[in-house]
Amino acid sequence: MKLHEYQSKQIFARYGIPIPKGRVAASALEARTIAEELGSRVVIKSQVLVGGRGKAGGIRLAKTPHEAEEVAAQILGMEIKGLPVRKVLVDEAANIKTEIYLGITNDRSNRKPVIMASAAGGVEIEQVAKDTPEKIIKIYIDPLLGLRDYQARDIAMAIDLPREHWRAFGALAAALWRAYTECDATLAEINPLVITGDNRLLALDGKMLIDDNALFRHGDLADMRDLDAEAASEIEARKYGLSYIKLDGEIGCMVNGAGLAMTTMDIIKLFGGSPANFLDIGGGAGAEKVAAALRIILSDPNVKTVLFNVFGGITRCDEVARGILTAMDEVKPKVPMVIRLVGTNAAEGRQMLANASMITAETLADAAQKAVAASTAKR
Ligand code: GDP
Ligand code: MN
Repeated sequence: MKLHEYQSKQIFARYGIPIPKGRVAASALEARTIAEELGSRVVIKSQVLVGGRGKAGGIRLAKTPHEAEEVAAQILGMEIKGLPVRKVLVDEAANIKTEIYLGITNDRSNRKPVIMASAAGGVEIEQVAKDTPEKIIKIYIDPLLGLRDYQARDIAMAIDLPREHWRAFGALAAALWRAYTECDATLAEINPLVITGDNRLLALDGKMLIDDNALFRHGDLADMRDLDAEAASEIEARKYGLSYIKLDGEIGCMVNGAGLAMTTMDIIKLFGGSPANFLDIGGGAGAEKVAAALRIILSDPNVKTVLFNVFGGITRCDEVARGILTAMDEVKPKVPMVIRLVGTNAAEGRQMLANASMITAETLADAAQKAVAASTAKR
């Protein structure tokens, strides 16, 4: 789950990371009031769940409350990378001397969290990582020991942070580490972390990703989810307890079991196709769940074929077939449907579906080839 900048910064503040004074506003008038309260120059920042807002014109300074109202009205009318701006953060404007990047994430290949820093902060860090990777310092963190003081000092030295800021930087990095672990985050990032004109460290931007699988033990974080900012299909999938991730391909996948779903995607690729989604409908899914999944898959205009790969273990295959038929009755798909069904009563199940003019297959390889052929056939 992605958190907005203002939410991430609220969490940072709880852990003792210095952030600018400010509040979030949903209207231009509210932005004006906040600017009046702050009594200083402010920065108006669009709250959308994408990076590069600055470059897109979604971050602007305002000198007076009147100007804050005007700028907020403009930004609240914007769309950034396809996302409508519904809220703005009104922060006391900072006087920036230096922009630093600081972030913690998980490095899967090293099976450890990694803390990354760069003196080339502010701009899109992905670009720095691509063009000049040597400008990003990485230090791996032992998950049992946590971030050690000497590691924070090593980073401070490596990014040429002036000596006078080392103590504050160490405390800040430790706080970021605590926020990262205690919130079960998969990313906690400050870009830019600035040195202000009056020589303080300040987190001007904040980004946190929270592991969805840990939300059950973070009610307060789960409540921060912004449904407006999420794809309708993903909200729908969550409602029915489906694990769904949209991808760019053309073959919709309806599979029970995450491992089987991944295998299905791999094998589609192997035969030259590309999956439109990852979807795990789970074991023992009834007609209602199958119908919901089918609706979600077919709501993607890229989908040219749907491939069902179902292992009827707990649920018998004829029951699965009945569920699929009920779902098809409701959804009435117009694209070819390929099904591979194995398990108890597979033959009966397949027969029922063949009668309903679905393309049936016995092996996964066979099913994948048929799905690829159906998705590339001219219609
Ligand atoms: P992003 O573009 O979505 O990453 O948004 P950021 O919050 O990182 O802001 C982008 C850039 O706007 C920063 O790198 C700063 O250069 C600038 N910026 C943000 N807040 C302030 C501020 O308070 N004062 C000034 N002068 N610039 C700011
Ligand atoms: Mn930023």
